[in-house]
Amino acid sequence: MNNRKMILAANWKMNMTAAEATAFVKEYSAKLADSKVITIILPPLTAIPAVASACKSSGKSDSVLAYGAQNYYFTQSGAFTGEVSADMLKEHACGYVICGHSERRAIFGESDELVGKKVARAIETGLTPIFCIGETLEEREGGKLEAVLSRQVEKGLSGLTEAQIEKVIVAYEPVWAIGTGVVATPEQAEEAHAFVRILLRKRMGETCEKVSILYGGSVKPDNVDSLVTQPNIDGALVGGASLKVNSLLALHVGCVKAAG
Ligand code: PEP
Repeated sequence: MNNRKMILAANWKMNMTAAEATAFVKEYSAKLADSKVITIILPPLTAIPAVASACKSSGKSDSVLAYGAQNYYFTQSGAFTGEVSADMLKEHACGYVICGHSERRAIFGESDELVGKKVARAIETGLTPIFCIGETLEEREGGKLEAVLSRQVEKGLSGLTEAQIEKVIVAYEPVWAIGTGVVATPEQAEEAHAFVRILLRKRMGETCEKVSILYGGSVKPDNVDSLVTQPNIDGALVGGASLKVNSLLALHVGCVKAAG
């Protein structure tokens, strides 16, 4: 048992209109039992005001139900067509932002260096980054798992102090498991998480024990228990299975059980 908070993060990706998001959060929050587990809703940008308003009306504390964004750009303002800044997210009281999701790395060409800038700027502006790392199948099969995670952690957290790293949520998401229905076994996931914690220990010593490391990649109600009960898995970042209220509630129940 450790003192890390159990986290259930719902990455809605490019799904949910504002109206759908409102209905979802109303129903979810009405059925959500208060617990030590925090649910973080990560809607598309256009649904953030709706989610903000529904979370506020739910009366739930932001240690139980919170929200954030899936992406942002690290500069304050300027000629960056299509992007939004940290301050713009904070205007909507977002608490969290995903940095370095594999879809952004693969489809939108985000480099480790860019991800590092996003993580750093998030911390600087008071947003909690959910910093995603993970290997492709080719990298895993080529024996490069540890090298890839080491590089991503080093570059993603470069320049941060130990106290700043403590504020980061790390998400280990093997690329081959995201949206594929092929989930990592609890042993595979725990092995990678334990390795990430070793990397953090090298950077920050014993305080690495305070950093939450989420697992992401085809988490479903029927496999969540076996994953989040692993010693170094502190919750889940969930895509597909976060899009239905009952499914997200079932994932929450699994996290609550594991949190004890
Ligand atoms: C994700 O997008 O971060 C993710 C883990 O997706 P899925 O749960 O659908 O695999």
